[in-house]
Amino acid sequence: MGERCCRYCHKPFQPSKFQPRQSVCGESICQRRRCTEYHRQKIANDPEYREVCRDSPRKWRVRNSNYWKQYRAAHPDAVARNRQQQELRDHRERLRHLANNTSALDLKHSAAEVWLVGAGAEVLANNNSAPGQVWVIEAHAPFRGLASGSCKQHPSGSDAVSAG
Ligand SMILES: [Zn+2]
Repeated sequence: MGERCCRYCHKPFQPSKFQPRQSVCGESICQRRRCTEYHRQKIANDPEYREVCRDSPRKWRVRNSNYWKQYRAAHPDAVARNRQQQELRDHRERLRHLANNTSALDLKHSAAEVWLVGAGAEVLANNNSAPGQVWVIEAHAPFRGLASGSCKQHPSGSDAVSAG
């Protein structure tokens, strides 16, 4: 059997004697492309194949409904690591929210120096395009709630909410 030209890479190849109609060479990139194309065509033209493809992840989940529970029980280190990474992502998100909700409109032209303080501030500092120094002091001010009535009605000496 003579050489042929690959349908994809157009390089000559020797077809297998077991596959006389072979039109794609044995290179992995061409074989992968052939598989993808076959899969795509099969999904488009074969309703049964399409059904099986659509159902298989769902069926797997039904058959292995305890998989993640068992995985977590068997891999406490991975669980701890995931939890830690999620806490880091949450913290980063809070810092991003804080950075996006500043009342200063243009930090780049501000003469003020602002410093980042607290765990996770390093992440924010590395992603800040402003050349200035920024201090963000993360404080958890005690929540006093809304005072009932107007300020004038507070008896003197009470812990009144101060207005800015
Ligand atoms: Zn090829």
